[in-house]
Amino acid sequence: MNKHCPHCNLKFEREVGYFYGAMYVSYGLQTALITLLYTVNMFWWDFSPAVLVFIILTLVFALFPVTFRWSRIIWIASFTRKVLS
Ligand SMILES: [Zn+2]
Repeated sequence: MNKHCPHCNLKFEREVGYFYGAMYVSYGLQTALITLLYTVNMFWWDFSPAVLVFIILTLVFALFPVTFRWSRIIWIASFTRKVLS
């Protein structure tokens, strides 16, 4: 990860452990994904619990690079106005 944004020179890691809070965002994103998959399974798919757990774990691990980056983006965007402008 860059220390500063190459576009606007925003310093990403403002202090040591700044992105620890992004873990909470990541937890929320993954919980939302699991809840969505569980709900879809309840109303449409009807897989057995073992298959559903396999699907959920596969998707959670496969999407980890995405949720990792998005949680950091959401975390820093909640404290910075420059990020998305
Ligand atoms: Zn920037």
